[in-house]
Amino acid sequence: MTAWDVCVVGGGPAGSVCALRLARLGHRVVLLERRPFPRPHVGEALSPGVRRLLDVLGLPDALDGSLPSQGTLVRWEDTTTRLVAPDPRAVTVDRGRFDHALLSAARAAGASVRQPSRAGRPRRAAAGWDVPLRHDVLRARFLVDASGRHRVSGGTTTATGSRTLALHAAWPGAGPTRIGTGPQAWCWGAPLPDGAFRAMAFVDPDLLRRHAFDVARLYHHLLDTTGLFADRPRVREVAVCDATAYRDDEPVTEDCVKVGEAAFTLDPLTSSGVDSALHSAMAAAVTVHTILTDGDRAAALAFYRDSRDRTAARHATWTAAHYDRHQPHRDEPFWRRRAAPPPAAPPPRRLTPDDLHRPVRLSADAAVVPTPCPVGDIVTMRRALTHPALSSPVAHVADTELAPLLDYLDRARSLTDLLRAWSAHLPPHRAEETARWLFDQGLLVMA
Ligand SMILES: Cc1cc2nc3c(=O)[nH]c(=O)nc-3n(C[C@H](O)[C@H](O)[C@H](O)COP(=O)(O)OP(=O)(O)OC[C@H]3O[C@@H](n4cnc5c(N)ncnc54)[C@H](O)[C@@H]3O)c2cc1C
Repeated sequence: MTAWDVCVVGGGPAGSVCALRLARLGHRVVLLERRPFPRPHVGEALSPGVRRLLDVLGLPDALDGSLPSQGTLVRWEDTTTRLVAPDPRAVTVDRGRFDHALLSAARAAGASVRQPSRAGRPRRAAAGWDVPLRHDVLRARFLVDASGRHRVSGGTTTATGSRTLALHAAWPGAGPTRIGTGPQAWCWGAPLPDGAFRAMAFVDPDLLRRHAFDVARLYHHLLDTTGLFADRPRVREVAVCDATAYRDDEPVTEDCVKVGEAAFTLDPLTSSGVDSALHSAMAAAVTVHTILTDGDRAAALAFYRDSRDRTAARHATWTAAHYDRHQPHRDEPFWRRRAAPPPAAPPPRRLTPDDLHRPVRLSADAAVVPTPCPVGDIVTMRRALTHPALSSPVAHVADTELAPLLDYLDRARSLTDLLRAWSAHLPPHRAEETARWLFDQGLLVMA
């Protein structure tokens, strides 16, 4: 029996990118995907971060054939419709084609891809995992569960948003992306690269239960309430899927990591599911690499858990605040369940020329603490700056470590003094930019 270093279950974006990174790092990787590709998949609107990450990985071709955004008609805060200009980096893709391109890239990087090959529930073995297949069992030291919402390795989850179902259908069509609201749903629709137009309605599950006898009728009623989809045909084939945001309660152990939707899902309002899945795959790859090369295990596990938790929490806060901006139906149960005002942020304190002569200190809420950080391809402990205003601890500014710069705070008698000391580490304009940024965030304050 071949013993693999890593078995990745699932060939969606998360599984393919994790397999690709680990294969490039020299590990023997096998990836199992139960379906032949290309296969259909929802989640076609890719946020700008996806393009940035694919560029870093040297995979810009994965977006070949994608459709650039043509702007978005938005009716959200009130009943007026505004046209939001397109972001040239946001695209819609045919997920069959996109996922296929990423899986081919993983194969080209050296991962052994078995497809179609459905993995059964993996079992812990003496040194790693046995992964049952139809006529075979694979053995691997490390398991990467990238099986999406199927979560082949099991375990429990905690909901991070209100339970939500998506009703969706597609028809031949074009036009701008649309985001609209009704009393019981919000709806999204966008053109796809193959000349189709897909629209979704996101609802509470109990609404669907009450209308289970005619889902298509409910779907069209919900689209009608937004006033944005009048030009559509009355298609009867409407699919339903779960779209609840959750996070897995144990996303990483010393021999198993869950990536992408196996680890956490986001409210579709963020339109960042693929982006987050790819980032979790990158974080998982350095975590697995650190463990398999006998690096700092505790740091690797904490890094993955923290980055997953921060991403889930940041998106949950943003989504609740975005639901809270909706006015017309804000008293309806659908909206009340989801809305929460954003946390109050103190107004930024801008630097003035007078400040140059005054002493500065770290904010009382800030601290420099040992934090797990990826340095190159390995997770290691670094001193990093934490503060409630930061979405994650900051260890570096550009390529310079931040903590040694902050050590000068004890000695500098004024901001000018501090900038002079930093100039030994940074070009003067970078030192000034760094100080401005620290002030704007409320991390540095006047003493
Ligand atoms: C209604 C809805 C709308 C969405 N809209 C968007 C959007 O507009 N933009 C966006 O970025 N994201 C969107 N998302 C989220 C996005 O689809 C996911 O974040 C993304 O697909 C996650 O990628 P993944 O690789 O983790 O999982 P998946 O893409 O689901 O891939 C998992 C793979 O694992 C395979 N698999 C499962 N079980 C096994 C097994 N036992 N053995 C072998 N293989 C297995 C599956 O066949 C599948 O190919 C949406 C999600 C929903 C539910």
